[in-house]
Amino acid sequence: MKRIVLASRPDGAPTADNFRLEEGPVPTPGDGEVLVRVKYMSLDPYMRGRMDDAKSYAAPVPVGGTMEGGSVGEVIASNSPDFKPGDHAFGMLGWATHGVLPANQLRKVDPDQVSITTSLGVLGMPGFTGWQGLMEYGRPKEGETLVVAAATGPVGSMVGQIAKSHGLRVVGIAGGADKCAMAKEHFGFDECIDHRAYDDAKSLRAALKDACPKGIDIYFENVGGKVLEAVIPMMNPHGRIPICGMIAWYNAGGLGAGAAEEALTAPKLWRTILVNFLSVNGFIISNHWNNFPKFLKEVAPKVADGTIAVKEDITEGLENAPQAFMDLLTGGNQGKAIVKVG
Ligand code: NDP
Repeated sequence: MKRIVLASRPDGAPTADNFRLEEGPVPTPGDGEVLVRVKYMSLDPYMRGRMDDAKSYAAPVPVGGTMEGGSVGEVIASNSPDFKPGDHAFGMLGWATHGVLPANQLRKVDPDQVSITTSLGVLGMPGFTGWQGLMEYGRPKEGETLVVAAATGPVGSMVGQIAKSHGLRVVGIAGGADKCAMAKEHFGFDECIDHRAYDDAKSLRAALKDACPKGIDIYFENVGGKVLEAVIPMMNPHGRIPICGMIAWYNAGGLGAGAAEEALTAPKLWRTILVNFLSVNGFIISNHWNNFPKFLKEVAPKVADGTIAVKEDITEGLENAPQAFMDLLTGGNQGKAIVKVG
């Protein structure tokens, strides 16, 4: 089997040197365990956090350890009555061609319903994140205005589409004209603003004012940085901000040097939250898995009948995963980033 390990910890943006491809024997499943041959692997922004040895909500990947990640593949050996060879399953199998997990850590996926790749994006962790964060912390109401950045990714595109189905005005922020066209034409956003076309928060805010004439009621926070700074003064009283991610700062160690460059100081931010009675809720999706069946029940039929649009960006070959991951962090992906492994 092949796997990609963390060769060294990055200092700032990851480079190819931080990853190493290794080969070894295919693992043997023990009692109650299942061996899966991976077909598709997910690339997600949270993996950048796992590369740092910093205090976080999840343990870091050790240097020399297999990069963490979710994959979907075919069962080729099983010591559990719950799985048989030929079944398809999703699990945290890492950046590898094969993986073994206890049966209770695998979720069966039916390839006859929808493409198995959807278990990594629109019907997996990221899609669930968008749906859960919006419904629980965004509390959308008809006629309101929502803004979300990384609008064409699996989280942002779910947020936009669900908000639209609840009758909101939905404004996306994305990197580049092509992604903005995708947000509007493929995902049905009312407007989309190219954050790369604006040098600073002030000019980005001017564009947002045109797109959001009634201000912003929900800002679904995916990115931080310049976008956050542009949005905050536009929040309406009683607005909601589900804090999902802050990818603009991930290469700065989450709260490091890059964050300090933003002019949005803590007193200014705090005052806006106070005087506009904002609800700001951070959340980590791993604390919400009990709601996943409800999400699937509601959203899977909409994916199957095309009501919810999907966009996937598939890279061929495990050996190309590091480059595809580095591209994801800088916006090189066009839709949900996936690697075709085997
Ligand atoms: P995407 O597939 O959308 O990829 C990340 C995107 O972020 C890039 O394509 C790029 O899009 C955008 N981006 C990168 N840098 C910047 C920047 N400086 N300013 C603005 N945008 C930037 O990712 P996901 O949909 O998988 O994830 C979206 C967010 O949700 C991430 O922050 C992620 O960490 C978070 N998340 C949080 C979870 C939780 O439990 N809280 C669970 C899952 C995801 P563009 O080119 O359009 O700018």
